[in-house]
Amino acid sequence: MPARIIDGKLLAKQIRDDLAQKIKAMVNAGNQQPGLAVVLVGNNPASQLYVSMKQKACAEVGIYSEEHRLPASISQEELLAVIERLNKDPKIHGILVQLPLPEGFDEQVVINHIKPEKDVDGFHPINIGKLQTGQKTFVPCTPAGVMKMLDSIGIDLTGKKAVVVGRSNIVGKPVAQLLLQRNATVTICHSKTNNLAEECRQADVLVVAVGHPELVKADWVKPGAVVIDVGISKVGSKTVGDVAFDEVKEVAGWLTPVPGGVGPMTIAMLLTNTVAAAN
Ligand code: NAD
Repeated sequence: MPARIIDGKLLAKQIRDDLAQKIKAMVNAGNQQPGLAVVLVGNNPASQLYVSMKQKACAEVGIYSEEHRLPASISQEELLAVIERLNKDPKIHGILVQLPLPEGFDEQVVINHIKPEKDVDGFHPINIGKLQTGQKTFVPCTPAGVMKMLDSIGIDLTGKKAVVVGRSNIVGKPVAQLLLQRNATVTICHSKTNNLAEECRQADVLVVAVGHPELVKADWVKPGAVVIDVGISKVGSKTVGDVAFDEVKEVAGWLTPVPGGVGPMTIAMLLTNTVAAAN
C-alpha cells in the first residue's frame, strides 16, 4: 500500500484559520494586534520570495507586519542599530532576520542582538538553551512544524527509533531535541556519517534536512516508516525534496510532499510564535 501523505498545506491552513480567529478575539478584547518585523539584507532571490510569503501570511491572519529591506552594502553596526530600534518598538512583538545574511556579516552576532522575547525564530542562544533544558520558549519554526505534522498523524513517539539527517542549528539539532523530549531514541546523521543508508533503514521516524535532491531512496527506508522531508532544492524548474518521493512512497507508511509539506508549516509556526510573543 502506498504511503499516506501528510498534507502540510492543509494542516498549515487549519493553523492559520485558528490563528486568525484568535487574533480577532484578542483585538476585539482590546489587546494589541501582534506585530512582526522582517529584516532582509541584500537581494538573494530565494530570501526575497520567503520574505514576501511571510508578509502575505501575516496579512491573511491579521498580524501587523513590516519589512525592512536593507542593501548588502550596509555595515553590521547599521544592521544592529535597526534591530535595536525594533527591540524597543512596542508595535513589534517578533523580529525575524532572514538568513543567510550576505558575506561579511556575522550571523551569530546579529542573532544574539535580537531581544530573546522577540526572537520568534527561536535562534537566540538563550532560547536554544531553554529548548535544550525543556523550558517554555520559541521553538524554531521548521522543527515546530515537523512536530505538528507528526502530531497530526497521532503517532506516539515513545520508544520509537528516530533518525534525523542533518545537524544544522535551525533544523537538524532542534528537531532531534524535540524528538528526544517525546521519548524517541534519536540518532543524528550528517555529512560525515558512515553508512547513512543503513542508519536511515533503522528509523521508525526519518526526518531529512540536508538540501541534497532526492538523496533518500526507497531502499533506505524501513517499510511503514514515517518520513518527513524538510529539504528544498530546485532541479531545473522543479522544486524537489531530499527524498525520492515517487519510489519512497511505495515503502513508507507516511510521507510529506515537497512542495506542500514542511514549507507551509514553517510559515504557520512563525505566525504561531508571533502571536505567542504578543501574549
Ligand atoms: P544546512 O546546509 O545548514 O545543513 C545541512 C546538513 O546536512 C548539515 O548538517 C550536513 O552535515 C548535512 N549533510 C550534508 N550533506 C550530507 C550528506 N550527503 N549526507 C548526510 N548529511 C549531509 O541546511 P539547513 O538549513 O538545515 O537546511 C536543510 C534543507 O532544508 C535545505 O534544503 C533547506 O532549503 C531546507 N529547509 C527547508 C525549510 C522548510 O521550511 N521546508 C526550512 C529550512 C530549511
